[in-house]
Amino acid sequence: MRRCSRSDGTPTANVSVTVAPAPYQPEPRFAWPDGKRCAVMLCFDVDGETTALAEHPALRDRLTTFSQCQYGPEVGVPRLLGLLEHLRVPATFFIPSYVAEHHPRMTQAILDKGFEVGAHGHLHEKLAGLTREQEAKILDASLEIFREGFGIVPKGHRAPWFEINPWTPDLLLDYGFEYSASMMRDDVPFFHGNGIVEIPGQWMLEDWEQFAFNADPQWGVIPEDCDKVYRLWWDEFIAMRDYGCCFTLTLHPWLSGRPSRVKLLERLLTDILSTGDAWLATGSEIAAWFKANPNARRTIDLDAE
Ligand SMILES: [Zn+2]
Repeated sequence: MRRCSRSDGTPTANVSVTVAPAPYQPEPRFAWPDGKRCAVMLCFDVDGETTALAEHPALRDRLTTFSQCQYGPEVGVPRLLGLLEHLRVPATFFIPSYVAEHHPRMTQAILDKGFEVGAHGHLHEKLAGLTREQEAKILDASLEIFREGFGIVPKGHRAPWFEINPWTPDLLLDYGFEYSASMMRDDVPFFHGNGIVEIPGQWMLEDWEQFAFNADPQWGVIPEDCDKVYRLWWDEFIAMRDYGCCFTLTLHPWLSGRPSRVKLLERLLTDILSTGDAWLATGSEIAAWFKANPNARRTIDLDAE
């Protein structure tokens, strides 16, 4: 409350108004390159046929369900690559090695166009419930396929279903990874105890929750309309930009490769680019920046030491 005064400066007796406080604007959480206000990591999880096969091998014979999964690598990825090239934005593709093996030209095209490829299991296995040895075996087989087939050693790992085990960061270090993109403990990167960088995500910035639907087996609920999803993601981007966060958007080509959703992505990315102060980067670029600037992160956890 404050006293009002007349234009001649004389106090106005017994009159007061409520003054709205200035917008809440905390210090940015992270120092991004070139004074950018936030980072944007665009992720495509190319689950393809493993979406069905990881659930049950018999789904291979459910041709309609299986074909919906095939739409990702066969139609979604080429279309999305076209948009990304048009907009000249970087992206990281997390690909189960089964999908890389069965779509070698798609995988090579992603690499040839300069996008990053990260590991995402072999058959999109849920890590929860696996032993450390089973998980290591999957990493072994998966990395062998990327090495033999494409001559690459992925630097990034996104766990299928985002779920990792207590030993996963150590396994990732053993296998030469630089970063993990699976946890949800923060909205800026942080270090695991062994030095592996974590680039966290969140379910709100995932297209499965917005767009997935299959009748039987039942996947998803009701596909949302693109305007609603645009608002959801744009509002989060603008707020994350205010707070200096890392906007990690995770899309699946069998969902976000559908025409109206490619248009949605074009609209979102164009608006993000038009702010002029967002750093669009691959996971390995973000991890490298953090490793070179370990003090970039501002901790706000009141219990942190
Ligand atoms: Zn996945």
